[in-house]
Amino acid sequence: MHRVLIASELQGLLDQSQLAGLRITWLHSNEPTPKGDWVAIVPLLTRWVGGTELKNLPQLRIVANVAVGYNNVDVVAAEIRGVLVTNTPDVLTDATADLTWALILATARRLPEAIDLVRSGKWIGWHPEQLLGMELRGRTLGLLGAGRIGQAVGKRAPGFGLRVIYSARTPKPEFERQVGAVRVDLHQLLAESDILSLHVPVTPETKGIINAERLALMKPTAILINTSRGDLIRESPLVVALQEGRLGGAGLDVYANEPAISAHLLKAPRTVLLPHIGSATEHTRRKMAGIAVANVQAVLSGGPPLTPVYS
Ligand code: NAP
Repeated sequence: MHRVLIASELQGLLDQSQLAGLRITWLHSNEPTPKGDWVAIVPLLTRWVGGTELKNLPQLRIVANVAVGYNNVDVVAAEIRGVLVTNTPDVLTDATADLTWALILATARRLPEAIDLVRSGKWIGWHPEQLLGMELRGRTLGLLGAGRIGQAVGKRAPGFGLRVIYSARTPKPEFERQVGAVRVDLHQLLAESDILSLHVPVTPETKGIINAERLALMKPTAILINTSRGDLIRESPLVVALQEGRLGGAGLDVYANEPAISAHLLKAPRTVLLPHIGSATEHTRRKMAGIAVANVQAVLSGGPPLTPVYS
C-alpha cells in the first residue's frame, strides 16, 4: 500500500474504486503539510507546496494539484527534486468559461444592483431609465490569453454578437478561423475592448499585468472580468478607477489575497464579486478530483503521469 496525502475536502467527490491500493491520510486545508514518508500529495490550490514541504516529504514522487493553475506549487523546486507535478486541464474548461459568461452578463447588466433593489422592497415599478446596462451586440470582447479557457469563452461570443480580439504569445489560427478572432498586441487589446477578460496564468511575467498604467489605457465604459488568478490585477488602482468612473465595472471570481478581499474592493461600485467558483459544478469537481488521483495511481504503478505540468 502506498502512503498518500489527499485533501480531506475531496472525500465526497471520490469513489472507493479510485482509491484502491492507497493508504490515505486525509489532510484538511487548515492543517499544515506534515513531515513524513508519504509518496504522493493531492493538494487543493490553497495549499502551498514549496521547498520546505518538499524537504519534509523526502519520499515524495508526485504533487497532483487539484486545479489547472499550479501557482501554489514551486514547480522548479519539485523538478530539481525529481518530483512530478500534475494539474487538471480540460475537464474544467467549459464550467469556467460558462462562469466567465455569467460574470460578463451580470456585470454588463448590473444584476447585483437589480437583485438588491428587488430584495430591498424599494422597487416601485418599471422605469425606462432604471438600471441601464451595456448592450453586448456590436461590442468588442478582448481576451488576454487564448488557451483552453480563453478560447472557450471566445467561442461563446458570436452568439451574443460580439467581435473578438485576443493577445497571446502564439497565434491561434484555428480559433481565428472559427470565431473570426483577431490577434492584437496588449496595447490595442486594452484600448479596444469593451469587455476585457483575463485567461493567462499567473507567472512572474503576468503578475500585476493589469496595473494603474494599463487600466488608464482602457475605455472608461469597459468591463474587466477575471476568472483566472487574482494576482493578475493590482487591486488598489482597480478600486480607484471604479470609484472615479474611469472603468465601467469589474466582475471578479479571484483575488490577490484569497479569501480576504479588501474592504475598498468590497465597497467599490459596479462590481460583481464571486468566491472563486469558476469550476464549481458537481460534474467538473468530480472530474478534477478523479484526474488528480488517477495521476497518482499512474505514477505509483510505474507509468507516466496523465497530465504533467513539465516534461
Ligand atoms: P492554458 O490553456 O494554459 O492557457 C493559458 C494561455 O495564456 C495560453 O494561451 C498562453 O499562451 C497564455 N499566456 C501565458 N503567458 C502569457 C503572457 N505572458 N502573455 C500572453 N499570453 C500568455 O490555461 P487554461 O486551462 O485556459 O487556464 C487559464 C487559467 O485559468 C489557469 O492558469 C487558472 O489559473 C485559471 N482558472 C481559474 C479557475 C477558477 O476557478 N476561477 C478555473 C480554472 C482555471 P500560449 O498559448 O501562446 O502559450
